[in-house]
Amino acid sequence: MSILIAAETLPLRRSLARGALAPLALGLRVELAPVLTGAIEIPRDKALLSRTGGRCPDDGTLLRFDPVDPRHVCPTCGIEVRGELHDRFRPYWYQLWLAERVLHAAVLGVLLDDADCVHAAWGLLDGYVDRYLEYPNRDNVLGPSRPFFSTYLESIWLLQLVLAVDLLESGATHSAERGARVRDRIVEPSVRLIASYDEGVSNRQVWNDAAMLAAGILLDDARLIDHAVDGPSGLRELLANALLADGSWYEGENYHLFAHRGLWYGVTMAERLGRAPSPALATRFDEGFAAPFRTLLPDLTYPSRRDSQYAVSVRQPRFAESCELGLARHDDPRLVGMLARLYDPAVPARDTGRRASTADVERNLPATGLTRADLSWRSLLFARAALPPLAPHPLASDLLPAQGFGILRRDGGRCFVGLDYGRSGGGHGHPDRLNLLLSDGDARWFDDPGTGSYVDESLHWYRSTLAHTAPLVDGHSQPRVDGELAAFEDVGVAGWMRARAQLSPGCMVHRTVVVVDDYLVDRVEWESEDAHEIALPFHGVHAVGADGAPIAGQPAAIEGGDGREDGFAFLSDTMRLAPADGPVALVSNVASAPGPELRGWVATSAAASWWRAVAPGPPARPSQSLVLVRSAARRGTITSIWSWRGSVRSADFDGDVVTVHRVDGSAHRHRPIGDDWAIDLAAGATSAVVLGRAVSAESLDRSTPERGSAAPTARARSLTLSFRTILGAAHYRRSEQSWEEAGKPTCVVSIDRSGERLVVRVDVPRAERRFVPIDAENPFDNDPAAIHGDGVQLYVAAGAHASGWLLVPIPGSTEVARRTADGWSDTMHIEASWQPLTDGYSLVASVGIPTGGAEADVDVLVNEIAPGRSRRRGQLVLSGAHGEFVYLRADRHDRERLLRFALDDR
Ligand SMILES: [Zn+2]
Ligand SMILES: [Zn+2]
Repeated sequence: MSILIAAETLPLRRSLARGALAPLALGLRVELAPVLTGAIEIPRDKALLSRTGGRCPDDGTLLRFDPVDPRHVCPTCGIEVRGELHDRFRPYWYQLWLAERVLHAAVLGVLLDDADCVHAAWGLLDGYVDRYLEYPNRDNVLGPSRPFFSTYLESIWLLQLVLAVDLLESGATHSAERGARVRDRIVEPSVRLIASYDEGVSNRQVWNDAAMLAAGILLDDARLIDHAVDGPSGLRELLANALLADGSWYEGENYHLFAHRGLWYGVTMAERLGRAPSPALATRFDEGFAAPFRTLLPDLTYPSRRDSQYAVSVRQPRFAESCELGLARHDDPRLVGMLARLYDPAVPARDTGRRASTADVERNLPATGLTRADLSWRSLLFARAALPPLAPHPLASDLLPAQGFGILRRDGGRCFVGLDYGRSGGGHGHPDRLNLLLSDGDARWFDDPGTGSYVDESLHWYRSTLAHTAPLVDGHSQPRVDGELAAFEDVGVAGWMRARAQLSPGCMVHRTVVVVDDYLVDRVEWESEDAHEIALPFHGVHAVGADGAPIAGQPAAIEGGDGREDGFAFLSDTMRLAPADGPVALVSNVASAPGPELRGWVATSAAASWWRAVAPGPPARPSQSLVLVRSAARRGTITSIWSWRGSVRSADFDGDVVTVHRVDGSAHRHRPIGDDWAIDLAAGATSAVVLGRAVSAESLDRSTPERGSAAPTARARSLTLSFRTILGAAHYRRSEQSWEEAGKPTCVVSIDRSGERLVVRVDVPRAERRFVPIDAENPFDNDPAAIHGDGVQLYVAAGAHASGWLLVPIPGSTEVARRTADGWSDTMHIEASWQPLTDGYSLVASVGIPTGGAEADVDVLVNEIAPGRSRRRGQLVLSGAHGEFVYLRADRHDRERLLRFALDDR
C-alpha cells in the first residue's frame, strides 16, 4: 500500500509530472544532480547544538547552508568562519537535506520511471542502514535522538525515509530484502525512540505523530498507528486542542505553517487509512490553510508575534504550496486570492533556496516571485492539474477570536491596525497582551519585533513587555495571562476593538483602539484596588515641543524591574523629559527627512513622568528611540491619537472626550459611552457613529479547552515535620535513559525545623561529584552551566517570600556556591555547607522562615550527571517526576509544584 496516495492515483500523477507539472518535476530532477553522481557522504557525527555553532559571531545570523560547499559563510556580512562547533552543527542541516533528497529521488524515480533516481534512493537508504545505529543517543537538548539533538528533528528525518521506501516499493521493481533491512535497522529503532518521548500539545509533537503514523503503516504495527492517531497527544488531540477553532495554531503565525504541514501529513495518512478526523475537525484543519494569511501585514510579511523570526515574507515556496495543498482539498477564494499575489509575474524572482532545502525544517529567505515550478514534491503528488483563474482577494478587517487577535484594515488592506490581546501563547509566547500594531504599506510603525537567536542574550529583550507597544504594570513585564475581547466592530467609516487583561492581581487593564480612515485613537485604562503604575512604550518616535524640535531632557536612569526579561537593562542614553503641560506630541521623524511620517499626541488622566531612551530595534536592525510614559494611580487612562498620512493637525483631550482636528478643517469628537464608543464626525454632530460590541457569540467562541503543561499539583494536604524520604524511580526526570538504565539513582531528603529556620538535608549516596563552578560559561546555550553537574536546586516559599537557588558544592572546602534560580528571588536567608560521603556527597541548607507562619512550601531537585556526558542525565524531584523529562528546564521551577509542610509549633 502507499502511505500518502492510493496506487490508483499514481497513473494520473505520472501523467501530470510529464505534462502540466513537468517544469516542477524537471526542476527537482536537475537539483538532484549531486545525489545522482554518487558523491554524497552520509555524515559520521551526530549534530551538536551550541551557542556559537552555525551562527555568525558578528551578527548572529544563521550561517548559509550549502549541501555541496562545506564552508561556513554568513549571508548577512559575507565572512567565512571556521571551527569545530560550526562543523558539528552542519550535520543538522545536512541530514535533513539528505533525507529529503532520498524522498525526491523516490518520487521522481516512480513518477518519471527514472532508474538513476531509484538507484540513488536505495543507495542512500543502504548507507543509512549501515550508519544509523552508530550515532549515539546521548547529550541531547530536547528528547532522545541519534543523528540529531532533538526528537522532532529525527521524526522529520524518519518521515522522509519512510515515505521514500513506501513509494519505492509501490513503484518499480525492488528487492524485498533491502526494504526489510531499512525497517529493521532504521525505522524500528528510530520510531521506538520517538515513541518514548511525548511532547504533549506542541508543534513538535505533530511531527512525532506523523513519523509514528508513517512508520506504523510501513511496519504494519496497529498499536503504533493507534497511538499516533488516538493517543493522548495523537493527531486527533492536536487537531482538537492545539489547532484553535478559527484554524490557527495556538502558538501563533510563526509555528502555524510548520505545525499545519505536519498535520497535513497526519490527516492525509489518516484519511488513507479510513480513520479521517470528524467533519468538524476536518473543517478546522481546512481552515488552517487560509489562517496564516488572515493576519498578514500590508508588505505580505506576517506579524512577528511571540518567538517569531522578524518580518518573514509569505513570498516563499512553502506558502504557495500550502495554498496549493489546500486547494487540492477544497475550493477557497482566499487561497486563490493569495496565489494571485504569490504568482504575480511582476514580482522579481530570486533564489528560492529549494536546492538546499532541509525537508520540513523551515529556513526563511527574502521574498521572491514564484511560479508552480518552485513548489515541492508534495505538489507533484497532490496539486490540481490546473488552477482556477487567479484574482487577488482584498484583505479586510478580521478577527481571530480563538487566537485573540483583532485587525482593522483600511485602504484595500494597505493599512493595518492590530490589537493582539488573547492567548499568551505557551512557551513561545511573549508578555505582550494588549499589544498595538500599526503598519501602512511598507512602513511598520508599531511593530512586534519577534525574536532573534534563542541562544543570544537579546532573547531576554525580545521577551520583555518593554520591547512591545504594550502596557507594563509597576515596571515589570506582564505575567503570562490571556486577555479577553470586549468589542470588535467595523462599520466602514469607523471601526474599533476593545479588550482587557488582568495584568497584575486586582488590576484590570483595558485597551480600546478606534480607527477612522487614516488615524487611530488608542486608550489604555486601568482600575485597581491599590495604586499601580502603568507604563506605555512607544518605539521609533521622539517627543517634540511646539516648535517641532525634540524636547530637551536630563540624563537619568530609568527605574524598572531588574528581571532579565523586564528589559530595562537593554536601554541606553536614558533621559527624563520635562514636557510642557498638555498633550505631548510625538513624531517618528525629527530630521524632517522625506518619506512617510507618524505623528502622535498623548495625554494621561493622572500625573505622568516622561522618559526617553535608545532601545534595541528588531533583530539585526538598528536601535531606535523609545518614549515611555508612566502614570501611577488607582484608576487612570493614557490616551493617544496617531496619524500616519498627515491628515491630523492636532488633538485636544478634555476628560474622556478627545477631539481630533483634521488638516481639512473638520473635527471628529470621540467619547466612550458605557460599553460603546461615539464619534461625532462633524462639529454640529449632525453625523455620528456609535460603535458597539457587535461581536457575534459564535465569533467570540473561546471554547477550546485550556491547554498547557497541566502541571500536576501535589497540594492535597500539608505534610508534617520532621520529614524524611528516599527519592527514586517515581521522582526521576529522565533524559535519554530511564531510571533503571541510568543505574537507579537515589537520594535521601530530610526536612526539619530548627527555631525560625527550615533545615533541608540531601544525602546523595552515589555521585560522580562533578561540581561545575556556579558561574562557569555555558558554551551551549543561555542556561547556567552549573545545572549540568552534580548539585541541588532548592525552592522555599513562606509568607510573602518565594526563594529558589541552585546550590553547588565547592570542591576542597565545605562551602556551597549558589545562584538565584531563574524566576525566583533570594530574599530568604540561606546558609549551606557540604561534605563528601564515601561515594557521594551530603549537602545541608538552612533557610530563615518568617516568624508566626503556619506553613512553608518546599521542593528539592537533585541534578545528576554520568561520565562521558556534557549535559545532566537527569534529576530527582521531591514533588515527583510525573513522567517528565529534564530537557530545557534549566533551574526554573513551577511555584505550584512545591510541597506544603505544616510548621508545627513544638
Ligand atoms: Zn555575519
Ligand atoms: Zn513579541
